[in-house]
Amino acid sequence: MDATNTSQGNNMTTHQDTPGKVPVGSDTGKMDSKAAGMNPYAGLVSGLRAAWLAGKTRGAEHRVSQLEALGRFLDDKKQPILDAMASDMRKPPLEAELSEILLVKNEVNYALNSLASWMKDEFVEKNLVTRLDTAFIRKDPYGVVLIIGPWNYPLHLILVPLVGAIAAGNCVIIKPSEISSCTEKLVAEMLPSYLDKDCFAVVTGGPAETTQLLENKFDYIFYTGGPQVGRIVMTAAAKHLTPLTLELGGKNPCYVAEGGDLQSVANRLVWGRCFNAGQTCVAPDYVLCSPETQEKLLPALGRAIAQFYGPDPRASPDFARLVSDRQFQRVRALLGSGRVALGGQTDEQERYIAPTVLADVQPSEPAMQEEIFGPVLPIVTVPGVDEAIAFINSRERPLAVYVFAADSKVVHRVLEQTSSGGFGANDPMMHMTLPSLPFGGIGNSGLGSYHGKFGFDTFTHQRACVLRSSGLEALNSPRYPPYSQRKLGLLAAASQIQRKGTCSLQ
Ligand code: NAD
Repeated sequence: MDATNTSQGNNMTTHQDTPGKVPVGSDTGKMDSKAAGMNPYAGLVSGLRAAWLAGKTRGAEHRVSQLEALGRFLDDKKQPILDAMASDMRKPPLEAELSEILLVKNEVNYALNSLASWMKDEFVEKNLVTRLDTAFIRKDPYGVVLIIGPWNYPLHLILVPLVGAIAAGNCVIIKPSEISSCTEKLVAEMLPSYLDKDCFAVVTGGPAETTQLLENKFDYIFYTGGPQVGRIVMTAAAKHLTPLTLELGGKNPCYVAEGGDLQSVANRLVWGRCFNAGQTCVAPDYVLCSPETQEKLLPALGRAIAQFYGPDPRASPDFARLVSDRQFQRVRALLGSGRVALGGQTDEQERYIAPTVLADVQPSEPAMQEEIFGPVLPIVTVPGVDEAIAFINSRERPLAVYVFAADSKVVHRVLEQTSSGGFGANDPMMHMTLPSLPFGGIGNSGLGSYHGKFGFDTFTHQRACVLRSSGLEALNSPRYPPYSQRKLGLLAAASQIQRKGTCSLQ
């Protein structure tokens, strides 16, 4: 089906400002403001703000129609999406369909199924003073929001936040990553014809364009990417006191305890590390285990790699490539840490790095100083779980902590004595597949969360409302001067919260 036939006559605007690129779609807001010497995106932002102030996105019907249109985009454009991902990083079709289409469709359907209950006013407890009033939380949209995405899951990481932003009733500017250029082009050319052009726009470009975009005042900013750029985005947001979510990265530790079925552990580690050629923010970044476990784990990891990708992973259609020359060179430089126990082959022309395991890596070596973000798994040996916990706690708080242990006591010790955005026992990454769980980081790995209802809440201002009758003025007399001890007693009796018994977890 042609996109224009499915769009209910709406056209989302696309703004491209990269030199040498041909603008797609209407660009009038930008041109007008450029002519006036203003920020090139000022016209676009004020256009969306006008739609927001007119209340266009507030009603449930508009939200439902836009979410349904997003679902149709994913259905209609499935093949072009898979092709764009293949061109950007040779993402295997199964990986692309699962992570970039299915998980986003799940979020769309979850939001459509739940929207009516999410949007409802939430009536709250009252005291004697407000007994005759109506007290509730109104789920107010923020207004005009900006979503900035990275290149590793270039569709998922702009569309899942978009689901939350639409569900919550906002107008949105989406800024996909310029690095995954085929997907950026697809989003700019194909998504606009599905959504309401008055309320949603795509802006393309890199750091220069994003910097200009961020000079404008938004009501909420949702950023996914590295911590370094996260600081830049937070500084720009601070200028306008704009609230924001930062979905950042980091090194996700993975403690492997003694014993258990090490082949299953190895299968799950290789899957988590090599999915999308390791370019996954929640991938297991490094293994902590005893020297004895390392020796047993290495052959199991070798078997898993051979079973998944054959004797030459370069020939496997199920193994992706690094997204850019810069990323290839960065990851290749990490191969000098420890000793290459498995893999280690590279091909610069293809941006191929073989599934690689580095053994006996020292904490001070390059592979342990930055997020790997490639198909390379370093192993750092520690005597036991106490030292593993101390190691994890001595570093920045990660997006996820993983533990592989047959003994649930070990699992619970690691859970209770560490801190991270999410947690997985005996499998990596699965916690991010459930819309019923919040997804986000803590400290260096991020600020805020989304997915499912958490995405709706992220883009919603909880407005505290009390509706009071204009009559019954006599009831207010105790709060008015002249004050007296009697008035204070009445007010305290009517509004004080009494402590109930002792605190109990029963
Ligand atoms: P990045 O920080 O380089 O870029 C992300 C976005 O920021 C892009 O759209 C880019 O155009 C823009 N940008 C880049 N430089 C900018 C600047 N100076 N000013 C303003 N905007 C700028 O991130 P990346 O390399 O695309 O993504 C990799 C990182 O993202 C990794 O650290 C990874 O862990 C993290 N990540 C986190 C999550 C999560 O959900 N927490 C998901 C995916 C990736």
